[in-house]
Amino acid sequence: MLKQRPFLVETLTAIGLIAAPFVLPYFGFAPNTVNRILVWGLFGIGFDILFGYTGLLSFGQSAFYGTGGFVAAYLLTRAGFPHVVTALIIGMIAAAVVGYLVGLIALRRTGIYFAMITVAIAEVFYFVEFNPLADWTGGENGLPGVPTPSLYLGFTTFHFTTGWSLYIFLAFCYFIGIVLALRIVRSPVGAVLSAIRDNPLRAAAVGHNIHSYKLTAFVIAAAYAGFAGGLLGVLQAFMPPDAFTFDTSGQLVMQAAIGGTGTLFGPLLGAAVWLFLQDFLQAALGLGAAWKLVLGVVFVLLVCFLRRGIIGGIVDLYVYLAGKSTATESDDKPAPGSAAGGGQEVAPPAAPADKSSGVVMPALHRPIDRKSGPILEATGLTKRYGGLAANSDIDFTVNHGELRGIIGPNGAGKSTFFKMLTCEVPPTSGKIVFEGHDITGMSVTDVAQLGLTKSYQVNQLFTRLTVRENLTIAALAELRGKFRLDLFRRTAAIPGLSEQVGRTLEMIGLTGRADTPVSALAYGEKRRLEIGLALATSPSLLLLDEPLAGMSPRERVETVSLLKSISQGRTMIIIDHDMDSLFELVERVTVLQEGRILADGTPKEIKGSAAVQEAYLGGVHGQ
Ligand code: ADP
Repeated sequence: MLKQRPFLVETLTAIGLIAAPFVLPYFGFAPNTVNRILVWGLFGIGFDILFGYTGLLSFGQSAFYGTGGFVAAYLLTRAGFPHVVTALIIGMIAAAVVGYLVGLIALRRTGIYFAMITVAIAEVFYFVEFNPLADWTGGENGLPGVPTPSLYLGFTTFHFTTGWSLYIFLAFCYFIGIVLALRIVRSPVGAVLSAIRDNPLRAAAVGHNIHSYKLTAFVIAAAYAGFAGGLLGVLQAFMPPDAFTFDTSGQLVMQAAIGGTGTLFGPLLGAAVWLFLQDFLQAALGLGAAWKLVLGVVFVLLVCFLRRGIIGGIVDLYVYLAGKSTATESDDKPAPGSAAGGGQEVAPPAAPADKSSGVVMPALHRPIDRKSGPILEATGLTKRYGGLAANSDIDFTVNHGELRGIIGPNGAGKSTFFKMLTCEVPPTSGKIVFEGHDITGMSVTDVAQLGLTKSYQVNQLFTRLTVRENLTIAALAELRGKFRLDLFRRTAAIPGLSEQVGRTLEMIGLTGRADTPVSALAYGEKRRLEIGLALATSPSLLLLDEPLAGMSPRERVETVSLLKSISQGRTMIIIDHDMDSLFELVERVTVLQEGRILADGTPKEIKGSAAVQEAYLGGVHGQ
């Protein structure tokens, strides 16, 4: 709904910021508290882009808050720099540069190790501020005398000194911060960041350079932190050394969790709850330092009962109520796409268009290759895991336009072979040439960019996104390349994107489910989306690892028909255990056994091969 009114959020934010000084005093908020909330809120916008949107939990944001704050405060107090806003921007740039350098190190690890590196780095900054740099930073005294900004209007000068007059300046900064952040999260970069949060492996496999995107999020978060740090000095007329403490980073994380991550506004709301409770419990109830005890209880309750924070809870309630009213409206007529017995099940989807039905499938963006000769040549491909040879000395060639099947008993090395072809795992020895490029040892991202990708045996989807958003992520990789900093571009404005996503939706028969979240899809639909993710990158060679795995007989029929339709004019290699379906689809079959090629031929030859009967078909059919 919000998507249809593009400036609604911005307008509501502006109204909220204008109304705040008139409304909040009635709730007991002092102007200084509101100003502190804004500084924390701005600090938290960057953190939310890093954690809520990209999934990178940093406990080291105080390093950038302190850096930006001290650079700006130093310029304004010791270096005699006259212009407050320029000093704040210089502080922000300094924090972003430091963020880039720290990110280069911290992002070498993921998960808890990443979080631990950020803690350690922030501790180093704290130490440096107190010791080697104490002459510049004032050590434990901080830097007093930070001036407030003023605006020269030609006939008069407006001073933003304290209280509500300083609020005007801070609210303006917050507004600019949120408008920029909204642009970022709605840009293609924002879309890729959400994909990285949901499934970094797949984001890389469809062709995005996830390291560079993570670094971008890290630098953005550092820049917001740096600017907010500068504002802290302005707000307090003093740059406090405790900006660098672990408490600062911890408070930021908790405020974001209380307000709700992945919302941009969560940290602002969390800060409001935190600071209001602090003022109220400390001053009004005279709890002194014990106020943190109450805060701790509030935090635990919120995290237990509102796992996505206050804003997440409000959104869930809204969705629940909206869903209820839609359900009431459509009580007499069954909702399209819902089958009796449960919301998760869906009615038979529109069968994917199929060449046998005479429907010609539309081509995707990358022109389908009409060349002849080999598209892929693997020679001497071997993969050893310790003493076990998963693949041994495999020579394998596929020609343009060919449909190749790969079969073999469990453990024969089929998946390992695919992983080597797509460069997910490096071969122990051997060489892979794709479209004339030696791709041996390249990254999975670079290989996807060249036009070679696969669909996975176990679904690798972007689980918190809708079907359309999933396909958009994949199509963006082809249309924008592996990394692009189009931070302020609207995703919808990318030429050819909606057409490419629309065509893929049509191919996989999920047009009617485009705006459904992945979590609400039936298994067969998820499998087709899995294939759709690979297709949306318009690969010239598509590998499908057990596309029929785990499907019901009806879903198999639909998926085989989908595979037939997408195979038109494409080069595909398909692994599957369902030999009847596979032999119906492919022109040639390679049989693997114990990591080696046992046989290679037409489906008819393979069916007639005594060695294959013995090693594989006999075994399976004999069960
Ligand atoms: P298939 O797909 O034909 O069932 P795989 O390629 O998954 O076979 O596995 C081939 C062999 O390699 C198996 O014995 C498997 O246990 C082993 N293997 C696969 N991946 C790894 C790994 N990451 N580490 C160690 N052994 C592995």
